Amino acid sequence: MPTTCDVLVIGAGPGGGSAALHSARLGLNVIIAEDHAEIGTPVHCGECLSNLAVENLKLDLPEQVIALRCKGIRVIFPDSGSRLLTEPGYVLEKHLFERWLVNQAVDAGAELRLSHKVKSIQKQFNSENKFSNWKIEGSGEAFPIEAKVILDASGVHALCAKLLEMEDEVEVISGFQYEMHEVENDGYLDFYLWPKYSPHGYVWMIPKNEGRANVGLVTTDKKGAIRYLDAFVEDSYLKANPKANPQWRNQSVKIKPFGGTIPISGPRQETYDDGLMLIGDAAGFTSPLFEGGSHLALKSGMFAAQVSAKAISEGDVSKAKLKTYQDIWEKEFPPYNKILKGKTALYELSEEELSFVGRCLPKEMSSMGPLTKLGVGLKILIRKPLLYSRKVISVLLSFGYSRAKHHGW
Ligand SMILES: Cc1cc2nc3c(=O)[nH]c(=O)nc-3n(C[C@H](O)[C@H](O)[C@H](O)COP(=O)(O)OP(=O)(O)OC[C@H]3O[C@@H](n4cnc5c(N)ncnc54)[C@H](O)[C@@H]3O)c2cc1C
Repeated sequence: MPTTCDVLVIGAGPGGGSAALHSARLGLNVIIAEDHAEIGTPVHCGECLSNLAVENLKLDLPEQVIALRCKGIRVIFPDSGSRLLTEPGYVLEKHLFERWLVNQAVDAGAELRLSHKVKSIQKQFNSENKFSNWKIEGSGEAFPIEAKVILDASGVHALCAKLLEMEDEVEVISGFQYEMHEVENDGYLDFYLWPKYSPHGYVWMIPKNEGRANVGLVTTDKKGAIRYLDAFVEDSYLKANPKANPQWRNQSVKIKPFGGTIPISGPRQETYDDGLMLIGDAAGFTSPLFEGGSHLALKSGMFAAQVSAKAISEGDVSKAKLKTYQDIWEKEFPPYNKILKGKTALYELSEEELSFVGRCLPKEMSSMGPLTKLGVGLKILIRKPLLYSRKVISVLLSFGYSRAKHHGW
């Protein structure tokens, strides 16, 4: 006999945890299928989340998931000049955060199935040839599972989009980091816009408590990522700091970087189908500028749960009904196309041009009102009119859009 449920959530990352929590709170019968034997490891995240995101999601973070309360971001340019974005946030112990979230979902009534890997999904139809539910197969004793709705939070692998051949070329970027020790911090995360060390990406030093820090980068040069990271560490003030295995890794294995890939081409054209919604990275929801994705994964999980509850209560989980999900996130999420335009222009600037733009920005960027932005734009264009043709204005605008409304950095 198949196991039955209202909602099958695939994946217990931030998107899946949020989808399961909100679905269970709305009275749905939920199963979470997670491929791994434990939640959240290996960590594939710089682990930072802005305060704006935490407030927007109404998260009451327990102390054990917080590695550091930070003041904001320092953006560092190739000439070593820097500008502050003072807007507080958190560095998390991401795996503990994900476990905390899923535990809340379980407390609310969701059933967690670890070591359950979904492998195939098949639509079932009623006597009128209308979609009725999904039949899901995989490895793990709970399969086969029948669910009215699948919430796919399988991350960058985007399982359902692949299985259903939902047409979309998704571009990804690679990210890797070391945990380093004895790293001093003044409460700011350091983001280096230094193309030499991270072509089409950036380098970070994300501090944690007790002198720990995630030192990493993202770059489109997938094969060269670790080489670039090693070069940065070697050439920077971090050269003498010890590298270590993070706490969640078996301490006897050789110290090595950890990370993964991140979708960067924006959301998929369609993030829904009959009885299906795509959440988080599986939908392509990462912020296109600095690639943060936890906030949008958590929020899209919440939206998908709300749409599921309504559709199931009205007995209609058809594709037409679930379109509401796309309408909702499109209204609230950042304007991807505009940000992508700015990002492309940003990475076409030379190191000298990037440093020049940095020097035109105010020391503190968080309080930039429309007049200051206009002043910065004019300063750049008067001193280096050629930069107008390099679309530098769209670069400046994309920073604003990225932080728009309740998204933070
Ligand atoms: C190096 C790096 C640094 C990053 N830094 C940040 C940062 O500082 N801040 C930030 O906000 N974002 C950051 N991100 C992005 C962030 O990690 C992701 O956007 C976020 O984790 C997406 O959440 P998710 O729930 O959609 O997917 P994931 O966190 O990837 O979770 C997917 C889950 O699905 C499971 N799964 C996959 N396939 C199956 C299957 N077939 N059956 C069952 N389970 C399955 C996986 O095991 C996993 O647990 C970073 C990413 C990388 C790679």
